[in-house]
Amino acid sequence: MLSPKPASAFIGVGSNLNDPVTQVRSAIMAMVRASDWKVESQSSLYTSPPMGPVDQPNYVNAVIRLSTKLDCRELLGRLQDIENAHGRVPSDIHWGPRMLDLDILLFGEIEIHSADLTVPHLGILQRSFVVVPLAEIAPDLILPNGITAADMARRLTSGDLQRIDNE
Ligand code: ATP
Ligand code: CA
Ligand code: CA
Repeated sequence: MLSPKPASAFIGVGSNLNDPVTQVRSAIMAMVRASDWKVESQSSLYTSPPMGPVDQPNYVNAVIRLSTKLDCRELLGRLQDIENAHGRVPSDIHWGPRMLDLDILLFGEIEIHSADLTVPHLGILQRSFVVVPLAEIAPDLILPNGITAADMARRLTSGDLQRIDNE
């Protein structure tokens, strides 16, 4: 269903398989080309050790801000299409390796708590690879705990997270 006014959404992008930098850049390009939304800004790319099982490659992550008239569930469906187009296959391993992971971090002021969708995303207050790129593109954004992305990033920044310089 189309909503009258575009919502501002933040999307977490991640990959740790098959040249993750290329996967993340390709996903961002696919998002820039998509007609269902407008990409408003994109963070640098960051690399960090895996959060789940340790016997997997390091991750590359970024955060995208977009505006869209889709509703949140429609957006999730479109993002899953992009994941699938990047060779993501279903896995039983929780936080296991993947070609591409696209998470809806925030969708305007909306809160959803259902089996298939939790928004704001739970990782937004705990994961430096989410909060640091988010703070890069929206430092004054107020997070669900009432503090800004910039302040949250300062609290969470760990030496394990490194920005990847643009070539
Ligand atoms: P995490 O959500 O902790 O980062 P994950 O990204 O590894 O874990 P996935 O296996 O990619 O989890 O996704 C499992 C399911 O999570 C998806 O099928 C989707 O329905 C659901 N989900 C719930 N909330 C969200 C959200 N905000 N963004 C994307 N997927 C979500
Ligand atoms: Ca995720
Ligand atoms: Ca996911």
